[in-house]
Amino acid sequence: MIRLMNVSKHYNKTQTQALKNVSIDIDQGEFVYLIGKSGSGKSTLLKHLYGQVKPTNGHVVFDSYIVSRLKSNELYRLRREVGVVFQEYNLLDYKTVYENVAYVLEVTGVEENQIEERVMEALTTVGLKHKELDLPEHCSGGEQQRIAIARAIVHKPKLLIADEPTGSLDPRTSLKMLQLLHKINRSGTTVVMSTHDYSFVEHMPARVIRLENGIVKSDRSKNHTLLILNNTMGEFYVV
Ligand code: ADP
Repeated sequence: MIRLMNVSKHYNKTQTQALKNVSIDIDQGEFVYLIGKSGSGKSTLLKHLYGQVKPTNGHVVFDSYIVSRLKSNELYRLRREVGVVFQEYNLLDYKTVYENVAYVLEVTGVEENQIEERVMEALTTVGLKHKELDLPEHCSGGEQQRIAIARAIVHKPKLLIADEPTGSLDPRTSLKMLQLLHKINRSGTTVVMSTHDYSFVEHMPARVIRLENGIVKSDRSKNHTLLILNNTMGEFYVV
């Protein structure tokens, strides 16, 4: 579904080699943690997936799109298939929870009679149906991130990208957010989530790709991750 082939990214402005010859394949339906310290290239890699930056060398393919070759006026087609959430929620503070989510469908020309059903479905998934008429400022940080997630999934994307989605949340709320992302994944959406917090993997194991200075240092399947976790607990079997 996603293929990065020998992707390198050099930022001229800062003379930084953010990605070095990265090759990764991700299948439809996978949950992937992208792990690495700050500055290791996680955001840069994710931006390649939704066409925000173009590789200096190599290719990025998503389904039938050669993302690395899409022109800026063709990106909107890709963006219908990909939802993105960030550490910052980027909500419109003068719109209600409902309107923040509906807005995405309105600008992409979805028919009026479908909008309500789809917005309420997304709000139900994230557990915020009861908040539909509230303004974001009357919602907690965790709830605001849920609005952002509802907005990202309301057009039923094949891929959900979450770039440090828990960066502004306390540990308990972060864990709930993680559970929500796994729930969305179980409904068939591929999820790629960046984090510098390895403890998430212990709570909810999945494939882990670790970046270090723009290089893929390791790429472990879920079973391998479970083996490592069990190993640290003194057991030696794959669950
Ligand atoms: P991470 O998400 O792991 O923190 P980033 O992908 O944001 O890593 O950054 C990787 C490297 O690329 C860092 O050294 C960062 O300073 C640099 N970088 C990121 N974005 C830009 C940009 N837009 N212009 C110039 N340098 C950038």
